[in-house]
Amino acid sequence: MITNAIGTATPFVNTGAGPLLIPLEINHPSHLAVVDPDTAFWAIVRKDRLADLIAGSNVVETYRQRMDICASEMQGLRFGLKPSAVYFNATDRCNLDCSYCYIPRDMRRSGEQMSEARLLESLALLRDYFASHMPAHRRPRIIFHGAEPLLNFKAIRAGILAFEKQFLFGVQTNATLLDDATLQFLTDHQVSIGLSLDGPTAEITNRTRKGWHGPGDVHESVIRAMEKLRGYPGYSVIVTITRENVAQLTPLITLLHSHGVPGCLLNATRCTLPGAREVRVADEALADPFIRALEYNDELFKKTGHKMVVANFANILLAILAPTARRLMCDISPCGGGRAFFALAANGDLFPCSEFIGLDSFRGGNLFQDGVEAALLSSAFAAVTRRDVDHINPCSRCAIRHYCGSPCPAEAHEMNGGMDQIGAFCHFYEEQVRFAFRLIADGRANDFLWDHWDSADGMETIFDLSGAVTAT
Ligand code: SF4
Ligand code: SF4
Repeated sequence: MITNAIGTATPFVNTGAGPLLIPLEINHPSHLAVVDPDTAFWAIVRKDRLADLIAGSNVVETYRQRMDICASEMQGLRFGLKPSAVYFNATDRCNLDCSYCYIPRDMRRSGEQMSEARLLESLALLRDYFASHMPAHRRPRIIFHGAEPLLNFKAIRAGILAFEKQFLFGVQTNATLLDDATLQFLTDHQVSIGLSLDGPTAEITNRTRKGWHGPGDVHESVIRAMEKLRGYPGYSVIVTITRENVAQLTPLITLLHSHGVPGCLLNATRCTLPGAREVRVADEALADPFIRALEYNDELFKKTGHKMVVANFANILLAILAPTARRLMCDISPCGGGRAFFALAANGDLFPCSEFIGLDSFRGGNLFQDGVEAALLSSAFAAVTRRDVDHINPCSRCAIRHYCGSPCPAEAHEMNGGMDQIGAFCHFYEEQVRFAFRLIADGRANDFLWDHWDSADGMETIFDLSGAVTAT
């Protein structure tokens, strides 16, 4: 029995210290969900039994007994994590000029390139930092991220060779520089590879992923890489959903399936910079095509036996089914930026997340001059790590706020006017959560999740903000 502040036993839900259980319409013919917004506990209940549940039932009684555990798990996830990954920009430069890139154009055109010596020095400093709090058996992740990391592959190669016993490595690449020798090296060294593709045809991919002087062969390069990577389990493809491809998600799923892609992300464009906002899909227009693509992906799975997990949606399912097993860290508040991971720019500057590279006020210090600990304690990082969904209007009264987290702080700050503002895709999150609950109600959730997600082997968190690392 739960007691209230003065120790009185509380037999009811929704008053005093009793459990808070809010009914949630999930657009299911016979069931709805009840959710405790504070702990993210939930139950699926038949619509005609809701009154019985609220009046007292086994579900409520079981939850009463587990309420403290649920609350402390959520507290640990939200406030108890330490970094275990770095998004490492070995270069500021990119050979492409994609419409929605979060790195400012002048940086991508002529920014810094880290020397091999500096890259090795960085990895040594990061190794020492992680050794201070991570158990020896757990390797932190280094994800070489963009700009385009393969512009500095010689230095990256040296880093992987020197530190492969200390780190798990990943590379997020546009694939245009991924020649056979580079690919062989990366797969020989079990480096996770993330590719980016925005369309089922070159014409559609080229609308957003393009060179500085015209389309180039971006689409063909990715298709070639997917063919070469067929059968390699450690790779994934990110699709960035924009108004240029939102009507093409189903053919895109067909294309990825036909190449045996093991996992993908269907990410809504992050709206941090103005260029990205020009190609964004309106919040209300995203959920329908996205859910149709997920359903079609499931149909293909049933037909072919090949499961391609859409990681960003799978993560929402996990946020409901097993909050602490979630793998990506955007849909929790505070988000993973500056908390579960941080980003390193090519000149050694430290940011809470790659999304903030280029926004000087979020620079928390420099790896070589100040070190990681100082950056983590900086006011620049605190601005992100203190952004709390419990203090954002209207999220603070939203029943699904711990499945959503109101991402992203960079978008909230740059697009909506402040860290205390809502994120960019509220409606999209609401509909994804309703769909996730429908799948759970119908016993279909496992089709959309990684195999073995509920076993010890399948639970490694990868803190993958934009697909740089593939599912383990
Ligand atoms: S929500 Fe935004 S700032 Fe936070 S981890 Fe995701 S991309 Fe980075
Ligand atoms: S963004 Fe929308 S769905 Fe997410 S927590 Fe806020 S109100 Fe809820």
